[in-house]
Amino acid sequence: MNEKQIRDRALEIRETIARAAERSGRSGFDVFVLPITKGHPTGVLEAVARAGFEAIGENRVAEAETKLAELGRAGVRWHMVGHLQRNKAGRAIQTFDVIESVDSVRLARRLHSEAEKAERPSIPILAQVNAGGEEQKSGMDPAQLVDAIGEMLNLGHIRVQGLMTMAPFTTEERVLRRTFTTARECLARCQAELPGFDGRTLSMGMSNDFEIAVEEGSTEVRLGTVLLGERPEGRWI
Ligand SMILES: *Cc1c(COP(=O)(O)O)cnc(C)c1O
Repeated sequence: MNEKQIRDRALEIRETIARAAERSGRSGFDVFVLPITKGHPTGVLEAVARAGFEAIGENRVAEAETKLAELGRAGVRWHMVGHLQRNKAGRAIQTFDVIESVDSVRLARRLHSEAEKAERPSIPILAQVNAGGEEQKSGMDPAQLVDAIGEMLNLGHIRVQGLMTMAPFTTEERVLRRTFTTARECLARCQAELPGFDGRTLSMGMSNDFEIAVEEGSTEVRLGTVLLGERPEGRWI
């Protein structure tokens, strides 16, 4: 994919988002598009930046580090969207501007202490919630989310900006809708019950389900395939 192709696809996607946002009584401008460049070579990341996007998402620390070494920051914010092991928290905050996949209080504490060590004032994060209730999915249990975020609010070197969720891998609209509704309700509950919490971001929706996610209140969609085409087979480099 080159810059022109990405721009063309982005236009179509933004129209789809605008229509879905209107159905939820909002404007398409309320929805941020985060291109997910995992699995693609650095040339694609550069093209994404030139096409006018402000941020990119990657799901592995090592892959992002290699790309960053090759390319520099490319004038965009780097978002971590994949599962992050606690022992990589220090490396993650060197590479990423935002960590969207904080799936435990223990990881949040580790990010906080690594940020403190690195003298980074505060790192924007999203708390990942397992809104679909799948056993194998990362993310916190919706029933424990308010308490978990309550604890995160005491960690001065992280700033919880909202929630992230991944829906089950299915085309069943009912299941997707229920997952996104659960995530939206989780965010509303945190806002209502945690006075110190001012998170507004709801990162939900990927290539196969972003339209439904936007109808259900998503403020950020994470798009790989639909924007950048299939990821190349095998190793990404
Ligand atoms: C890969 C990935 C995406 C994008 O996936 P597509 O289906 O290609 O749009 C979004 N979010 C996360 C967390 C991912 O790992």
